[in-house]
Amino acid sequence: MHSDQTLACGCGQVRLRVEGPPIASVECLCTSCRTAAHHLEALPGAPRIVDDKGATPFVMQRKDRLAILDGEDRFSAFRLQPEAGTRRVVATCCNTPMFLEFPGGHWLSLYAGLWPDALRPPLEMRTMAGDFPDPAALPDDVPNLKQHSLRFYARLLGAWARMGFRNPKIEVKGELHV
Ligand SMILES: [Zn+2]
Ligand SMILES: [Zn+2]
Repeated sequence: MHSDQTLACGCGQVRLRVEGPPIASVECLCTSCRTAAHHLEALPGAPRIVDDKGATPFVMQRKDRLAILDGEDRFSAFRLQPEAGTRRVVATCCNTPMFLEFPGGHWLSLYAGLWPDALRPPLEMRTMAGDFPDPAALPDDVPNLKQHSLRFYARLLGAWARMGFRNPKIEVKGELHV
């Protein structure tokens, strides 16, 4: 499978390049992701980011293995609370949600819908199943982790070690209030 991929917002003004395999390909079941999707999917022209069962698919990518090729000035950050460090960054040209970033995180969780279906890294696990209203309804094709389990943190830590524990900064000037 090709792991290098150019990704674009819906209208093509924002383009990213990811290189190398992702840290993980996940579906997040947490309440925050569902709440954020409720706001972001309501923006004019926005694509769906939550699937029918209520999961948000993400591809987690090392920050040093992605480049913003075009349209960085279109980025705006959406925060669930004004003081929240966690931000979800939207390409405001066409309201495509691009990624989720935790404060101090060495990776970005890119919305998996940015990948063409055939090229999307295959799903490996679901996280935060403890937040999900009906965990028994989840399919068992991949592990449904209650929290961000040890296995999940081991992946993240391993990736950070290979990055030399650096944390590249992603510049986002705008703030989005919806
Ligand atoms: Zn766009
Ligand atoms: Zn989440």
